[in-house]
Amino acid sequence: MKFTTKQKIIFDTLDKFNKPLSAENLFEMLDEGTMNLSTIYRTLEKFYQEGLVSRNYLDNTAYYYLTKDEHHHYMICEICKKKYEMDCHIDEIILKIQEEYGFKVSHHDLNFYGVCKNCQ
Ligand SMILES: [Zn+2]
Ligand SMILES: [Zn+2]
Repeated sequence: MKFTTKQKIIFDTLDKFNKPLSAENLFEMLDEGTMNLSTIYRTLEKFYQEGLVSRNYLDNTAYYYLTKDEHHHYMICEICKKKYEMDCHIDEIILKIQEEYGFKVSHHDLNFYGVCKNCQ
C-alpha cells in the first residue's frame, strides 16, 4: 500500500507509540489542524482492511495497533482496569475454524476479562 502524507503520519504515530491507540488518541496527539477526526477514522479503517493494523474494542472504543510479528491479546482486570499483555495462542483455533467451517480468518481481536492477581 502506498501511503498518502496523512496516512504516513498516522502510520508513523502508531509505530512510534507502539501501543493501541484510538482515533481520538491520535487526534489529540497530532498537531492541531493536521487532520480532522473523520480522516483519522477513515485511515484507520483502511489500514484495518489492508491488514496493517489490528483492532481491539474496549468500552465501545476501537483501539488500533500495527500488526507486527508480536501480536498480542489483553487480559483486562475488571477491578483495577489494568491491561495485561499476553501472547497469541489461538493459531490452532483459527486452523480449526478454517477446517470445520471453511471460513478463512484474516484477523481477529480478543480480550480476556476477569480479575488480576493483585486484585484477587
Ligand atoms: Zn486488577
Ligand atoms: Zn491473536
